[in-house]
Amino acid sequence: MTLNVGVIGVGMIGQDHIRRLTTVLSGARVAAVTDVDLDRARSVAAGLPGGARVHESGRDLIGDNGVDAVMVTSWGETHEEYVLAGIAAGKQVFCEKPLATTRAACERIIDAETATGRRLVMVGFMRRYDAGYRAMKETIVNGEIGLPLVFHSAHRNPAVPRSVTTEGVIADTCVHDIDISRWLLDSEVAAAQMFRPRRSRRAPDGLHDPLLLILEMSDGVLVDIEAAVTVHYGYDIRGEVLGETGTVALAETGAVVVKSGGRQAGRVPDDWRERFVRAYDTELQQWVDAVGAGTSTGPSAWDGYAATVVTDAGIEALRSGQRVAVSLRDQPAIYREGGTTW
Ligand code: NAP
Repeated sequence: MTLNVGVIGVGMIGQDHIRRLTTVLSGARVAAVTDVDLDRARSVAAGLPGGARVHESGRDLIGDNGVDAVMVTSWGETHEEYVLAGIAAGKQVFCEKPLATTRAACERIIDAETATGRRLVMVGFMRRYDAGYRAMKETIVNGEIGLPLVFHSAHRNPAVPRSVTTEGVIADTCVHDIDISRWLLDSEVAAAQMFRPRRSRRAPDGLHDPLLLILEMSDGVLVDIEAAVTVHYGYDIRGEVLGETGTVALAETGAVVVKSGGRQAGRVPDDWRERFVRAYDTELQQWVDAVGAGTSTGPSAWDGYAATVVTDAGIEALRSGQRVAVSLRDQPAIYREGGTTW
């Protein structure tokens, strides 16, 4: 059976996921789309084989009986409304990060989902599907480096739009490092602290770049996250876990190393689409397969909630210059039972 997906928000990542669902993955088709820019939605629908219905609003799309499952790829501020409407309609929802932009909004989603007694929401933390991070996790779980002690994570973007703020880097960029830290280390964040290294002269006005976010995990592991979003040289994601008896680190991602003229070189990805292309494919195929089988998978609303609570703490730490303690509510049972990918 083919899963009919409705997509809310056909901007950059919405269109990339539509391409994926249409030409790369199996078992799904895009049946309907919407966007605040309806012309954009019509143009995307017209480019699909057989077309797709265009709805005037996300709520109309969710109410479409021909839509089996919903993908939310609009701006973060709109996610809560659509995720809640999807849950109310009893439909499975794939929501790009962030699940929602405030702790209270994430809690409303958790309450609504919990009331249904089953998981309906998956959050797009695609790093969990990256072959490198999965091999790191396997190394840790197998005990090959002993107990983890420190995780170094670096998130480097060549450039960002001038509209990006320092707080925005914590909410939109560091959120991936926060989620991967929780997943790799299998523990929650207990406290956050922010440091501002020397400011790059390349940083636009209003942006302090780079940033250093320190997380204390509940079991004592320390995580340092370097977010540098004006590095110019490429999109570079680095990670290394120091354990009691060894280390495990992400390898360079280029397919080849070129040696010439006494130097060696490899390719640095242009952006996140190139670096994580396979991870996005795997993430969405697993979602399609799970929804088709009537089950759920992947990062949950709980994971989305935890990440937002930690980004909030990071932003508070940035403003106050203080260490900020992190506390989460009690985890509902639906997030403790099966259905996850590891
Ligand atoms: P984008 O290019 O601005 O696309 C967002 C689209 O949603 C735009 O077409 C926007 O229309 C539309 N939109 C805004 N409000 C809407 C509403 N109420 N109903 C329907 N459509 C609406 O942004 P993007 O880069 O694709 O990001 C979208 C989401 O994906 C964000 O939450 C972002 O954090 C997330 N994301 C995740 C990753 C990842 O690595 N997992 C990577 C990139 C983005 P207008 O532009 O006309 O206003």
